[in-house]
Order: sequence, then structure tokens, then C-alpha cells
Amino acid sequence: MSNPLLDTSSLPRFDDLRPEHAEPALRELIAAHRRKLECLLDSPTAKTFSSLIAPLEEMSHELSRVWSPVSHLQSVLEDPKWREAYNASLPLMTEHATELSHNKQLQQAYQQIAGTMPEDATPAMRMLVEQELRDFRLAGVALPDQEKARYKQLMQELATTQAKFDQNVQDATDAWHFHATGQAQVAGLPQQVVDRARQQAAELDQDGWWLKLDYPTYHAVITHGDDRTLRASFYRAWSTRASDEGGNEQWDNSELIEKILALRHEAALLVGFKNYAEYSLATKMAAGVGEVLDFLTELAGRTRAGAQKELDAIQEIAEAPLEAWDVSYYLEKLKQKKFSISDDELRQYFPATKVQSGLFDLIEKLYDIGVTERSGVCSWHDTVCFFEIRDNDGKLLGSFYTDLYTRNGKRGGAWMDECVIRKNLGGDATPPVGYLVCNFSPPDAQGVSLLTHNDVLTFFHEFGHMLHHLLTQVDFPSIAGINGVPWDAVELPSQFMENFAWHHEVLVECSAHYRSGESLPGEIFDRLHRSRYFGEALAMLRQIEFALFDFRLHANYDPAEGGQTLSVLEEVRKEVALINYPEYNRLPHSFAHIFAGGYAAGYYSYKWAEVLAADAFSAFEESGIFDKVTAARFRKEILEVGGSRDIMEAYVAFRGRKPTLDALLRHSGIGKAA
Ligand SMILES: [Zn+2]
Repeated sequence: MSNPLLDTSSLPRFDDLRPEHAEPALRELIAAHRRKLECLLDSPTAKTFSSLIAPLEEMSHELSRVWSPVSHLQSVLEDPKWREAYNASLPLMTEHATELSHNKQLQQAYQQIAGTMPEDATPAMRMLVEQELRDFRLAGVALPDQEKARYKQLMQELATTQAKFDQNVQDATDAWHFHATGQAQVAGLPQQVVDRARQQAAELDQDGWWLKLDYPTYHAVITHGDDRTLRASFYRAWSTRASDEGGNEQWDNSELIEKILALRHEAALLVGFKNYAEYSLATKMAAGVGEVLDFLTELAGRTRAGAQKELDAIQEIAEAPLEAWDVSYYLEKLKQKKFSISDDELRQYFPATKVQSGLFDLIEKLYDIGVTERSGVCSWHDTVCFFEIRDNDGKLLGSFYTDLYTRNGKRGGAWMDECVIRKNLGGDATPPVGYLVCNFSPPDAQGVSLLTHNDVLTFFHEFGHMLHHLLTQVDFPSIAGINGVPWDAVELPSQFMENFAWHHEVLVECSAHYRSGESLPGEIFDRLHRSRYFGEALAMLRQIEFALFDFRLHANYDPAEGGQTLSVLEEVRKEVALINYPEYNRLPHSFAHIFAGGYAAGYYSYKWAEVLAADAFSAFEESGIFDKVTAARFRKEILEVGGSRDIMEAYVAFRGRKPTLDALLRHSGIGKAA
């Protein structure tokens, strides 16, 4: 096969993949699939699960496999050509998806199959058909042709506009720097950040320190930077990225935000919903707009007093009235004072490679599996590694790449993405493959990258997603792993994993002092543990602020008024925020989760799933955190089932009851629910 992207016989051939392969490969494959689908539908034989749905699953699996490296490489490589290739290919993908969901003949075939399912059809088969029929409905399969065409156009524009939003954020972030010339300006910053800034300056033939706006640097400055002016500069740069206040018109997301909201609203109306929030909830666990708003309001109510107390306490040690760029800094100072614990002290114990091996030991112990590194697998960067997970009988369950360190041109944040989804459609099962991507501080000259405890939590979190993706036992790709799982439950396995990083027995295995090799001493752990709830109420309130903003923005959208983005934000902040935000703050403009990612009218999902995750972990607290029986039950009922089962039913099967708020409030130190 000449186009290496179309070679899906094994792992992606990253060494051979070029941006110019993307569009032709996708065109060719989509055209072939179109012909195949026509044949299937025109065939006179009866439509059954195995004669129609199985081949369709096969095709969508193949397409996602070809698309995955294209989407992945544009996120992790500094290469405008990959971005162009992605942008040129994205409309093909969107168009194809809409075409399928608007195919009336196909929908009728599903309907007929649903009505004639054999007695021995598995629950997964029934669930798959049910979800597909729901998605046909949500895409407006029953609409008149003209409206269908409009819907298709909306989806196309939405996809390209959202991609542009994300790229603007990335470019605006990458373009900014702060050139520090005096020692006092970098006072308080972790040595690793200072060294890197020094090196960057030297590379540019400059003196002093060249500080970029990547997340590790931003976080370090805002949390540790003693120079208030430096913190203020970084805060301003960070909170005005890709906005009208950012100083770079070409990356201003203002118009894109308006456009995205308008497109979503119109699409939701077309298919019979009152607004995009309602549309979003049609595939989620939460029952309705009211339930989400009540949930967030209740959580805010329970959190507010605690958050005010935290804020008062840091105001007391601050020299001046607190500004937005002082909060993290004084929280850190007070944390050090109260618990004598600091990021800087902790990170000395957490070299990334040690954290990784400790994390792998943990999941080996919990789930009776083995993780081994495989060398010589080609990838997209020389810091990327590749691992396999095998069952205790040696059977390959899945494999994954890790790409842990920040670099220019790489999208910020941390995520897990699918490279290959599990599939077993008669014949041999195809094991899943995933990408685990983080933006930790890059290794220093000695090759060591030191993580904060927060980074450790991130690592555990993303690995939770990875386990969900890799341990699935569902045969049909469209409901395997994270697919078909309601978005507000998809963070359950990830947030669940974070809890382990708050236990000493786990952290001992994840730590080795970068000089002495000593694991995290019990005495330091005690201080860390006591500090766990510190600042939690403020953090919780901030997440609620984001979630309410996102939800109301989509629920109350009025085309006559436009997005009203900043006034909705202001209103929400008046109600729940305790911190004064500067007038120039443009949170929405870089809020890629909701304007570019899948969290639109769904940011509340983090808190929603956190309730599930905390409650699930409390089962481990009751039986012992390494209890194999509880872990086996979690694996079987939650991690393996993907979207093949109603999530509440699956949860109850694991826990023996429905979840309650108690564990989350207890884990956040906010107290027991009434
Ligand atoms: Zn997550």
C-alpha cells in the first residue's frame, strides 16, 4: 500500500507519515466506505446485526484508526503542515459523519434490526442499536432535506471553527514570553524553571531569563513567584490569551465564540431542542437542565462558607488587598506556614520516571496485570515511550504511548486519546492502543524531570482514562472503552485514580529523591496529607464557576442578543466567585474545553463524575485500598463495560447502591452532606 496512513495492519507508521498523506487517505477510505455501505443497503438479504451492523462497526473502526494519527500529530508537533492537513481533512470527517447519521435507509435498517433482535442478542448488542437510533434522532434524520442540508453545513462550520479556536489559543500561548533581566524577578521560582529559562535565554543569545507561557512555567510563576509584578504580567498574559485584550488581533477568539454559540444553538433547535444545553444532556447521565443547575447550586451553597474562610486566612498574611494574581501565591505561602509543605520540597521526590514506575506497580497489583516497555517502536518524538499491558496469563490487553513533557507547538494540558479502539467482530480481537499526553517540565541536563504532587495527580488521572480505554472487554468499537459512555460519567475512572495518589503506601513506590534516592518520608507525607483539603473549597468554587458559566451560556442563549459571554460570566462570578477579577480577564477566550473540546454544556461533568469517583473510592477505603476483590469488581463492572451498559446500573453493580455526595464532600474536607 503506497499511502502509509492507510496501512492499519499494525501500529501507525509514524516514521513514514507525512502531512500530505492525510487528505488523500481519508478521501480514498471514505469513498470506499460509501460504496460498501450502498452495497450493504441494496443487498436483497435480510438486514441483521451481523450482516449490516458488524461491517459498519468494522468500517468506522478503520476510519478512526486512520484519522487518529492525523488528529494526534497536529496536537503534539510544531509543524504547520500537519495543522493544514488536519484542517483540510476535518471537513471530510464531519461531512461523512453527518452523511451517515442522515441516511434514512440506514436508520430504517437499524430500526428493523432493533425490532427483530434474536433472543440471544447480548445486552451490548441491544445497547449499541439503541444508542445508534438515538444518535440518528439527535442528528435530525427525520428532517426535510433542506433542513438536513442546513444541519450538515452547521456541523461542518462548527468543526472548523472549533479547531480554529483551539489553534488560536495554542499560537497565542506559544508567542508570548517574558524576558527577566534581574535576579529579583525570578526569586521564589523553582530551580528547574529558572534553569530552563536561563537556558532558553542563552539559546537566543540573550542574557537573563526567558520565561515562556507554557503551563508548568505559568503555574510556577503564579504559585511561587515572589515578584508581584511578574505574577501580574503572567496573569494578564494567561487570562487574555486569544482575546481582544491579548494584543494580537489575528488570534482573537471573540468572533469565533459568537459563531460557535450561534451554530450550536441553531443545530439544537433544528433537531427539536430548546437550546444547546438540552441537546447536550440528551446523551448524558443527568436528567435535565434543572437537575444540573440544582446540583451546581447545591454544591456552591455547601462550599461557599469554607471558601470565604480560606480567602480570609490568606488575606491576613498578604501585604496588600488580594488581587487575582495573589491568590495562588499566598495560598502556597499559607500552606507552607501551616503545614510546612511546598511544591518545591515535594517535587524533589517525584522524578517523572519514578512516578511512572510506581503508578504501573500500583495497577499491576490492583488488577493482576503486567506493564512492560517495548523499545524500538517508532513514534513522533524522541522522548516518547511505548508500553504493553498483559493479563496474568500473558495475553495482550492493550498498549500505549507516553508523551510526557512540554515543548513548543504542543497543545497545552494533559489528555488520553485513542489510537486504536478495541474490536472483536468475529476473528481475532484487536487490542486497543492509546496516547497518554502531558505537559510536565522537560528533563534537565541530567535527564531528570521533577513533578509536583499536582502533576502526579494529573498523571494518575490520565492513566485512569487509559485503563478505561485499554481494559475494555466490549467487542463493538462504538461502545468500547470510553465510547458511548455518557460524558458526565467518563471522568469517573480518571478522578477515581487520583485518590490513590493521596496514600502513602502508593507514594512511597512513586518517589525517589532526585539526589539521595530516598522515598517520600512518612513525616513529609503526613504534612502533605494534612494539607490535602487546604484551598479545596476555593478550588471547588472555581470549578463550579466554570461549570455554571458554561451551562448557562448554552442554556440561556438567545440569537437576538448574541452570546453575551462576558455578561453571563460576570453574573455567574457575582453569584459564586469570591475573588475580584480584573476587567481585562477573558477566561472564555481560552476556554478550549467548552469552545473546542467536548465539554460544551458539559463542564459540570467533572464535578458530577467526581461524586461517582469519590464514592467509588470510598469502597476501597472500606475494604483496604489494595483489596483485589474490590478492584476486580471495579474492573469488571466499570472499566470493562464501556458504553455497553447503563452507567447507573453498572455503578450499582459495583457499589451495591447508588452514589451519594458524602464521600466527595468528605474528600474535599467540606464536611458531610446533610
Ligand atoms: Zn479527564
